[in-house]
Amino acid sequence: MLAKIKVNGIVQGVGFRPFVYRLASRLGLKGYVLNLGDAGVEIEVEGNDKDIEKFIFLLKKEKPPLAVIGEVNVEMGNEKGYNRFEIRKSKEEKRGGISTPPPDIAICNECIEDMKAGRRKNYFFTTCTNCGPRFTIIRKLPYDRHNTTMDKFEMCKECYEEYINPLDRRYHAQTIACNNCGPKIFLEYKGKIIKGEEAVWKCTDLLNDGNIVAIKGVGGYHLACIAEERNVKNLRSLLGRHQKPFALMVRDVEMAKEIAYVSSEEKKILESYIKPIVLLEKKKELPYVAPGLHNYGVMLPYTGLHYLLFKKIFHPLVMTSANLPGKPIIKDDDEIKKMGADSILFYNREIYTRCDDSIVKFIGDKPVLIRRSRGFVPSPINFPFYAKNVIGLGAEENVAICLLKNKCAFLSQYIGNTRHYETFEFLKNATEHLISLLDFKEDAIACDLHPNFLTTKYAEEIASERNVPLYRVQHHHAHIAKVMAEHGIREAIGIAIDGFGYGEDGNAWGGELLHCWLSGYKRLGHLQSHFMPGGDLAAKYPLRMLAGILGDEIAEFLYERKHAFPYGEKEIEVVLKQAKNKQAKKGVKTSSCGRLLDAVSALLDICHFRNYEGEPAMKLESVAKKGKDVLNLEPIIKDGIIDTKHLLIQLLENMRYRKEDLAYSAEEYIAISMAQLAIEKAEESGIKHIVIAGGCAYNEHITTAIEEEVRHAGYSFLINQKVPSGDGGISFGQAVIANEKMR
Ligand code: ZN
Ligand code: ZN
Ligand code: FE
Repeated sequence: MLAKIKVNGIVQGVGFRPFVYRLASRLGLKGYVLNLGDAGVEIEVEGNDKDIEKFIFLLKKEKPPLAVIGEVNVEMGNEKGYNRFEIRKSKEEKRGGISTPPPDIAICNECIEDMKAGRRKNYFFTTCTNCGPRFTIIRKLPYDRHNTTMDKFEMCKECYEEYINPLDRRYHAQTIACNNCGPKIFLEYKGKIIKGEEAVWKCTDLLNDGNIVAIKGVGGYHLACIAEERNVKNLRSLLGRHQKPFALMVRDVEMAKEIAYVSSEEKKILESYIKPIVLLEKKKELPYVAPGLHNYGVMLPYTGLHYLLFKKIFHPLVMTSANLPGKPIIKDDDEIKKMGADSILFYNREIYTRCDDSIVKFIGDKPVLIRRSRGFVPSPINFPFYAKNVIGLGAEENVAICLLKNKCAFLSQYIGNTRHYETFEFLKNATEHLISLLDFKEDAIACDLHPNFLTTKYAEEIASERNVPLYRVQHHHAHIAKVMAEHGIREAIGIAIDGFGYGEDGNAWGGELLHCWLSGYKRLGHLQSHFMPGGDLAAKYPLRMLAGILGDEIAEFLYERKHAFPYGEKEIEVVLKQAKNKQAKKGVKTSSCGRLLDAVSALLDICHFRNYEGEPAMKLESVAKKGKDVLNLEPIIKDGIIDTKHLLIQLLENMRYRKEDLAYSAEEYIAISMAQLAIEKAEESGIKHIVIAGGCAYNEHITTAIEEEVRHAGYSFLINQKVPSGDGGISFGQAVIANEKMR
């Protein structure tokens, strides 16, 4: 009996062929395995029926950790009389299939073992076919050593023997290296350079002495220090970042448990081969690490170098991406010097593509992605509908671009806020690189409806250059479409809650209730629109937003807080006048949920100035975490518009309660009224699915409260889990909508 098997998915560069070789040998099967250019892997096995059946079963069950098996196609045929099993040379030709370069993977347990003795003793860059950097080192496909930044390191004899031995774990491991032949590590300290293992130990001494060290990672540099008050304060002043939370790296889950609560599900994700940052509820306060928030972003070591550091470090480390304000993470050795760290731990291998750490947060029992980057990118997300080739370029903040191709969506790494020139340049490079890696040829481009986003301008540029149609997609429609596409549904009632999205009417939308299908939508309702005194300034100074909602009713409160206004009383006067007179009718209005949460945060004296995106709302969530509903407000909804001025007035009249309880009550009001409106509209239209998206959906209380109402009413409730719920996933929604409109 002979079986011809074709497997696609992520099966190249992940140790799949040696695995097949070992499996076939174990079962006494004969035949061959080979890489089919860009279309996966082809296998022929010959032997008795039972063994072949077992082979196919184990192929999926025992696959290497990095392999992602897509389709398995089996054809039976007549025996050809093979006398052994072999790994054959790759067929290079293109077959129009999809082969994906693998993502960067955290060091595996076997490699950690290998670092105990022999050629790789304490070698910082120990990797194998199951682990190590991939996406960040690949210049082009196929994924061979000469196409990566490992090309300048010639393998030593011992490494080469492993490389060509199909029974070795490092068979065809393109990152294979050892102390003798691989990249070397250095510490630059007080104008001196220390080389090799000593550099690592000196670095741990410096950290233990309270210094800040820049450490070269997988997708860029981190700035590191021991998470103690004095050091963290120094790091904050070095970066001019006074409030934004810093991520922590801990030795293991035990160390994580000393500072935070870790559920078994959170533990699983912390320890997964992706090793993202996971937001964990604080147990112990580490000063200045995450001011005013109830959680820390925590990750585990994910390279050999990180493991070495924790041999001599016994405290959590702050490990924050090294970047200047508004600029992307630094990946090049000459750039890092500008950061002003005490010393620099680096190695002599180039990072080709920058890639930030990914961030996961649990909403109830569901892990959701705040940032989808290292470890995920460029793995595809399955798209259940037929698709043309479309590029989605995202909005403005938290941008990641998306290439939609056949039944896959490829999202880029996290790019950032494209309002800044350097980040915009990064966007262009990342887009070009992904296009070339995937050998992608676009049929259309999709972008936001906002005329002035740089992503929109870029989209216009490529569309006209390449003569393909351009689709401008409303922001919240894209938000909802990305949930629908992820879950394979074509129609839903969508709750889109976020900070800002350009509306069809030119206003700033952000608390929307939409009836969506993939090619279009209808706005059924929204949070009440309010005037934003000073436009963007109202986002920076949430007290202005409060004035925009309450006008003169809040005058006394504002004057008592005049120091929170750069121009004091004069400014308050102007703001109140604007809110009151004609400008209130002409000026930009917003139905944003983010701005509403900001106003509540300002009213409860939680946050009067926004240092980073989402700060007032995030701090409100952290305060509400300790509260309960004391107001029990009934939603006031008229013609699809949720009265939110009512909420602010109720809060103002009940300031005698604890602010924790008021914060909770406010979130509850927003959640319950959104849920009620959604359920009412679902009933009217007979739609079964209610979905949620947008940055405010990361508020665990709001989202779980909506979910409870929706499920209780008998509807299904869906949220993104494979792409970010916020703007980091919006390019996917844009591409999906453009694809649908083209049909
Ligand atoms: Zn490994
Ligand atoms: Zn070697
Ligand atoms: Fe958004």
